[in-house]
Amino acid sequence: MTRPAVEDAERERVGGELAALARTLYERGWMPGTAGNVSVRLPGGAALITASGRDKGDMTARDMVVVPAGTAAEAPGPLRASAETAIHSAIYRTTDAGAVIHVHSPYATAVACRVGRRTRPASLRIERFELLKGLGLAEPAHTEVPVFPNWPEVRRIAADVAGHLAATPHAPPVLLIADHGVTTWGRDLAQARNRLECLESICRLLLLTGSGLPAEGREDRS
Ligand SMILES: [Zn+2]
Repeated sequence: MTRPAVEDAERERVGGELAALARTLYERGWMPGTAGNVSVRLPGGAALITASGRDKGDMTARDMVVVPAGTAAEAPGPLRASAETAIHSAIYRTTDAGAVIHVHSPYATAVACRVGRRTRPASLRIERFELLKGLGLAEPAHTEVPVFPNWPEVRRIAADVAGHLAATPHAPPVLLIADHGVTTWGRDLAQARNRLECLESICRLLLLTGSGLPAEGREDRS
């Protein structure tokens, strides 16, 4: 009967890692207020994710919610998972990701505003930058980062993400949501975070150089 205790200890350890990362991302200004969410896949396919509505600069290992495998709904408990949990679940269902990070970091979000459309997916082509090597791409010379519409119903965003990843085996482990933010994933939190840092830096360079971005002030964003 020691297994539940082992599982509890593991969740406490993983929850501590999630809380520490959320604090770090909050301090960088990438998770303002209660925005953003971080998750780790647990043994058996469930996921542990930061709870909704909690200040991301003040989290502890107890501020986490278990999302059962194959669903986007949290297990019963006092804390609620974010609606954006559906996007994490879509990534766990369609890739071998071990950890997912979603933030509203300024440069990636600004690029998502410039490139994204309101009612249909768009794509951001990135090439040349040395930092592409940090994204974990099959072909590091260039990539196409999908930019999904920011539907008011998060499940609709999640369905777009799942459909894209299922149909695109070599899709980069990063995506943008128009007017909203960025999501990255990897085998663990460290790898997902590295990819996030590289994409945020690339987006900063894109804005500094203006290369590969549509002109500002575009009228038609449908
Ligand atoms: Zn968000």
